[in-house]
Amino acid sequence: MSARRVLAAAAATALAATLGVGATASAAPGATPGGPWVQDSQNVSLSSLHSYDELTESLQKIQHTSGGRLDLSSIGTTNEGRDIWFAQVGTGDRKVLFVTQQHGNEPLPTEAALQVLQRLAGTNASWVRDILDEITLGVVVRANPDGTERYQRQNVDPDCAGAFCATGRGFDMNRYHDPAMAVADNPVPESAALQQLVRSWQPDITVDYHHQGSYVSEDGRLITSSVLWPTNPDVDPAVVDGSKRLAVMFDETVSAYGHGEVSLYPGGDIAGIARNSFGLQGSDSLLVEFRGGIGQKSSGYLIKQAYLSMMAFAAGAADGSLDALDPSLADAIPEQGPRVTGE
Ligand SMILES: [Zn+2]
Repeated sequence: MSARRVLAAAAATALAATLGVGATASAAPGATPGGPWVQDSQNVSLSSLHSYDELTESLQKIQHTSGGRLDLSSIGTTNEGRDIWFAQVGTGDRKVLFVTQQHGNEPLPTEAALQVLQRLAGTNASWVRDILDEITLGVVVRANPDGTERYQRQNVDPDCAGAFCATGRGFDMNRYHDPAMAVADNPVPESAALQQLVRSWQPDITVDYHHQGSYVSEDGRLITSSVLWPTNPDVDPAVVDGSKRLAVMFDETVSAYGHGEVSLYPGGDIAGIARNSFGLQGSDSLLVEFRGGIGQKSSGYLIKQAYLSMMAFAAGAADGSLDALDPSLADAIPEQGPRVTGE
């Protein structure tokens, strides 16, 4: 099945799986930017999201019903003793890694990842076999479970000190991925676990999923998502090109579906950011930031966009359509408004 057909099938699944939430974008044009990052937890119905225990239960259930197709393991434990779950499906040589929720208050891509794992591990349909013969998909589902339980950006480490520590709360784990830092020296257990995984698993493609504040484009349309490839100057240009192909695939996927308004994310160059770190280690790498201001009405279509993009990356990596994309098209993705420091 072509990637396009796979996408059509994926879209149908996503529609059925979005809890009956309509696909209508409700935020008014002209909404003011809500950065620097997602803050309005009061707008999210947390009860509609998976708690840590529910997430664990769901992953174990998918594993149990998958007939051995899904492999679930813990890649480390947090300061509060929670497991950091890593789910794998597929037997192909090309390794695709998705990471969700390094920031605890950026929840929706985790919901999408569960749907993707359910879809790919839950059926033996030929179009799924075609994908999973070619790739192995690994998903770090909720990289920061402690922070999620508090709906905060940081991990939970109230005694933290030093760079990227929010005193009394914890570290921003997405600044502690520098490949030059030894895993044993990493003060952030969640980051150390991810560091170790990337070194041993060696993904060919990584996509790191987040939320950002809300922005509008120059003509007043709501930005639904932003992307960026590795910008650290030491990343191999061939890796940058591969990463830009991921950006093009994301843009084409969500734009084709509707309610997709994609812009560039104004991210930094430091090696400690996952997007740059993965690129420095030779993996094509993309950051995806969905809009914040997550109300009930927008949650459905944002989960759907995340789901569709994950399925597109998996299918495109499997059938090679990803490699046929022109990376220079990524340079036409428009910039967004004021600089933020979310990521
Ligand atoms: Zn983030």
